Amino acid sequence: MALSHLRRAVIGLVVAMPLAAGLQVAASAAPMARTLYYDNSQAGEFAKAWEDAAVVWNNSVKNVKLAKGTAANSSIKILVDNGWPRAQPGRLGSGTVWMGRTAVNQGYHVPRIATHELGHILGLPDRKPGPCSSLMSGSTGGVSCKSVAPNAAEAAEVDRKFAGSRAAEAA
Ligand SMILES: [Zn+2]
Repeated sequence: MALSHLRRAVIGLVVAMPLAAGLQVAASAAPMARTLYYDNSQAGEFAKAWEDAAVVWNNSVKNVKLAKGTAANSSIKILVDNGWPRAQPGRLGSGTVWMGRTAVNQGYHVPRIATHELGHILGLPDRKPGPCSSLMSGSTGGVSCKSVAPNAAEAAEVDRKFAGSRAAEAA
């Protein structure tokens, strides 16, 4: 190999290395969705409805994902009783939700109840009274309301709350 070729190769290597290092930093700093696990093993006859609700949320937001977990690894506990559906949020992304048979028996749409209660776990407050197009209007959207997904503003609000949460957790 001629000396001039060797020099060129060395210069090429010196230039390429910082570039490669820069790419690696960029890759590890890329935004990743934070995954929250839910335990629906105590959700009774509504276990599948909560799994469907998780899919609705996963299709609506990008900074957080809901995945089926176990009692041991889940930050979201799902229960059922004969009262009203409700949520008891803990810190963002955690808490307990209940499917309540009173609302179900009155005809409220089970899939909407589930996505609404998960909305509380994802940091959204009730927006009552409100229209059917708003997920967080809850029961005030009407007993016939079958809108199950968050509207654009609600989805954006959740994405804002979870923006950078992965990096914050690692710190
Ligand atoms: Zn609510």
